[in-house]
Amino acid sequence: MSVEKVELSSDCFRGLLGHSFITSQEEVLGILFGDYDEGVVRIWGSKSLQRNCKEKDRVEVDDIQLSEAMDHAEELSRSIQQASTVKGWFHSHPNITVFPSHVDIRTQHALQSLGREFVGLIISCFSRDQHNLEKIDLIAFQTINNKAKSIQVEIVSPLKLLKQPELMIMHDCFDYLLEVQRNILREEQQAYESTKRNVNALGAVYNASLFNLSISRLLQKSLLPLYEYIKQKHSMDKERLDRIIQENKEIEAKLAARAAKEKST
Ligand SMILES: [Zn+2]
Repeated sequence: MSVEKVELSSDCFRGLLGHSFITSQEEVLGILFGDYDEGVVRIWGSKSLQRNCKEKDRVEVDDIQLSEAMDHAEELSRSIQQASTVKGWFHSHPNITVFPSHVDIRTQHALQSLGREFVGLIISCFSRDQHNLEKIDLIAFQTINNKAKSIQVEIVSPLKLLKQPELMIMHDCFDYLLEVQRNILREEQQAYESTKRNVNALGAVYNASLFNLSISRLLQKSLLPLYEYIKQKHSMDKERLDRIIQENKEIEAKLAARAAKEKST
């Protein structure tokens, strides 16, 4: 049976979207986790990947990354107590249309050897429509007969996909976005370390100042906004929780009053 639809959890979509908007210069990349049920690929988890090549339109997933993804699937399954396997990959198309390139179609074809239900997701961002308004596109696709076949995507509540959604907290979109930041930091550190060989004193100072600049940018443009967002979300969640606790108390009081009334009559 072929894949007819992809159900993507809204939490997972939020993570992928946040990741796509990290940079307009390069395509970003991740692996998707979930299960498959009667023609529907259901996705609730994701893991960001470090790019192994920085050329335009050349995102590919290598074997080491795939084996790490399998380990992650096992960890995710254990932690949410629900079988989760690698079900697809995702990458962004900054400044270009959402349609898969020839490289994407070839990569997708190779990855389908992992399972017939393996899907590719692409998010197009930083692009504008004919009215000059910013727009975001999302597609799912598979490679059939060397051509891309697009698949319907529905963004659904995690409650629809997960048996115990509260257990997802360790692997939710915030965890995903933190991993994205760690990956960027690692990339910057690796780039800086590689400049340390065969360099004179002046070059070393120059490289160190460039490294400082990129770390400050990361802090200012990425980490601090994420921190502020998480802080705001936390206070909104707390408000909501307080309201639910209050409503609960009122319902309990009403029930107790009714029970007392029934007892006395
Ligand atoms: Zn692409």
